[in-house]
Order: sequence, then structure tokens, then C-alpha cells
Amino acid sequence: MQVVGYRSTPEPALHLADDGRVKRLGLAHGVELAYTLGERHCAGQIQNDHHIACSAAGAPKCPSHERQFDESTIRNRDGEHAVYLAAFAPATFKVGITRSERLETRLREQGADRGARVFTVADGDIARDVEEDIGTDLTQRVRVATKLDGLGRAVDGDAWERLLGEYEPIERFDLEYDFTLGEVPVPETMATGTVVGVQGRVLVLERGGTVYAVDMRDLVGYELTEGADGCERQASLGSFG
Ligand SMILES: [Zn+2]
Repeated sequence: MQVVGYRSTPEPALHLADDGRVKRLGLAHGVELAYTLGERHCAGQIQNDHHIACSAAGAPKCPSHERQFDESTIRNRDGEHAVYLAAFAPATFKVGITRSERLETRLREQGADRGARVFTVADGDIARDVEEDIGTDLTQRVRVATKLDGLGRAVDGDAWERLLGEYEPIERFDLEYDFTLGEVPVPETMATGTVVGVQGRVLVLERGGTVYAVDMRDLVGYELTEGADGCERQASLGSFG
């Protein structure tokens, strides 16, 4: 059984492939995960719900499967697009573009805490030009490590409002992820623990009294075996002391 993908929204899940079949492992709050990570290799390809395995070493995907994936997801630039701003706690702000009707989904996929539609334009090419103009002042990409730092923290509302004041937001989003954290999670790559919640690519797990943040992309490509991994975690050992 191999982790071959994940979904952030709606209904977060890991996609597991077993002998060519793909099944969803739902990541609702409270679900108990008990898997041990084995070897990691290319996640292969999913075609019509069927998994085609690949033993190449590259993970999450080998170069040729990565290329195929990119080609299959090339953005359709026709149709109405939104240019948006997104806030990641406490104070990282980015600009982005997406198809107009996907805006909230896109914000959730990225795990944004807040968002605002600042322009609606006729197609993706115009959206790209507007994004580039705004992007000289704002980042277009936020690293997952930065998002991890902000998990469970509040957005600097004053800074966000100051930024929005430079535009005239058409629509605003205050995104909830149905969990709260009392502490900043420890970054880890594992598949054992109780699901606290999912925010964007980040899966939050509780284990032995410690809260961990797992970047789901880092799980893609791993072979899983059933049963909790036996790793003694330093942080959880510390929590007994
Ligand atoms: Zn491959």
C-alpha cells in the first residue's frame, strides 16, 4: 500500500493505492491513524481511478511522472479569473490567481487564514499580468515552513487591513479549519496519531500528548504498513517529564 496523493478540501484525505486500486483514507477530526512508513519511491500515476505503479526512486514523483502530471494540469486560461490576496498567520501575505469559481477552494487548498478577491478579470492571461504587477510588492509563493510557523496563531489583523486598504476588495473570506491549537506543532513526517485537523497541505496529528504537523506532500510516495510506528519521539518523551 502506497500513499499516492492527498486532498485538502472538501473532506481531507490521503489517497492510498493497493494493487492498482485507489482508496481514500478520510482525515476527519478524531480519526486514528496507525501506519508505519516504509520505503519511498515515485507515486506513479492515477488514470481513471486506477493506479499505475512506478518503482523509480524520485519522490513524490520521478521526473517523467512529474512532467506528465504538470502537462495534465496545465491551467485553462480561458474564462473569468480572480486575482486574490491571501493571509497566513501571523503576517505573511501573498497574491495569487485562480479561476473565478474556484477561489474559496484555492484558498483552502493553500491553508490560507484569510483571503480577499481584489480583481475579477476576463481571462487567465490578464490575471497573470495583474498578479505580476502586485507581485513586485508581495510574494507569490509561501513556503510550507512559513505556514507551519503560523499554525494555531492569529492573523495580524491590522497589517491585513492596511494591505487591503490599498485595494478595494470585492469579496472577503475568513477561513475556518474546524480545529484550534494550544501550542505550535512539531514538524514531523509520520502516519501514526489522532487527526486533529487539516489546514491546506498540513495534517495535524496528536500523539502522546504532543501535537505534530505533517506536510502531506512529504508522505506521498511512502509505502505504508498497518500498525503504529514504534518510533519513540523525543518531544513526546519530554512531555512526560
Ligand atoms: Zn515514476
